[in-house]
Amino acid sequence: MALSRGLKCCQRIFSWIPVVIISCVVLWSYYAYVFELCFFTLRNTLEKVAYLLVFHVCFIMFCWTYWKAIFTPPSTPTKKFQLSYSDKERYEMEERPDVQKQILIDIAKKLPIFTRAQSGAIRFCDHCQLIKPDRCHHCSVCETCILKMDHHCPWVNNCVGFSNYKFFLLFLSYSILYCVFISSTVFQYFLKFWVEELPNSHAKFHVLFLLFVALMFFVSLTFLFGYHCWLVAKNRSTLEAFSAPVFQNGPDRDGFNVGFRRNLLQVFGEDKKLWLFPVFTSQGDGHYFPLRTLSESRNPLLASEERWGEDGGSDEDSTDGEGDNDPSVNIEIES
Ligand SMILES: [Zn+2]
Ligand SMILES: [Zn+2]
Repeated sequence: MALSRGLKCCQRIFSWIPVVIISCVVLWSYYAYVFELCFFTLRNTLEKVAYLLVFHVCFIMFCWTYWKAIFTPPSTPTKKFQLSYSDKERYEMEERPDVQKQILIDIAKKLPIFTRAQSGAIRFCDHCQLIKPDRCHHCSVCETCILKMDHHCPWVNNCVGFSNYKFFLLFLSYSILYCVFISSTVFQYFLKFWVEELPNSHAKFHVLFLLFVALMFFVSLTFLFGYHCWLVAKNRSTLEAFSAPVFQNGPDRDGFNVGFRRNLLQVFGEDKKLWLFPVFTSQGDGHYFPLRTLSESRNPLLASEERWGEDGGSDEDSTDGEGDNDPSVNIEIES
């Protein structure tokens, strides 16, 4: 017991290594750009001020989005999706798998759940003892169910999901911007050092590596960012891109794809002024997502988004059965 606790503790410490590496590289890049390039190499004051100004905007936005991607706790399903004491007892006492399945189907009828397991059964997490909302998955690293889980990212040491997907996308965007700005401004000084137009100093070493590291990160991040842009356009999570969500009519990769514009709004929200800032603006509460096959009037998120919002807020005090008053939980799920 003590050994496994010790191992878990070590694992938790080691999991911060990628974040520490990224932070060290970024801190070094700050020193190399601001001091070695701007203060020690640049001679033109106007150029120096302009470079420092734009650099700091990119740097602050990068740090802000990275911070938010790391420290935003992933959202987990509300109590409504957990089995009540009596349901749990009934489920655990039952030894016949078919009856157990039927118990879950009966409970799920009160919940707006449209996706199923590959076998067609209700998606149930044994570990968390809850019925998984659509797009929710259990993360073995975080040891909990994560709403609209995308993937567990070691570079932010956090689960990327409903609560921080926008922050993760912005983090990728500002990282690319940071790399592009550094490469484009450093390049001419790299050449000047190369042809020995500038004196040989330790700034040469920093400028050379600055360009090399910025280009390397730019290439790898652009691939990842491109892939996530495609996922947002199609309204798929990384997990769903690998394994299509299963609906009552079978697997459908485009089950949540409600058109490019609405897919984009789901992640970034209606207020375009906030799109570029790492503040939470994603639509809904992560438990219900509009379906391509449902008309808008029957769609839980679009038909009663405000009600869901209120509902989520009062969930702490909600008791089982309260969900019966909700318009969207009465949608029939065929067994
Ligand atoms: Zn779970
Ligand atoms: Zn995780």
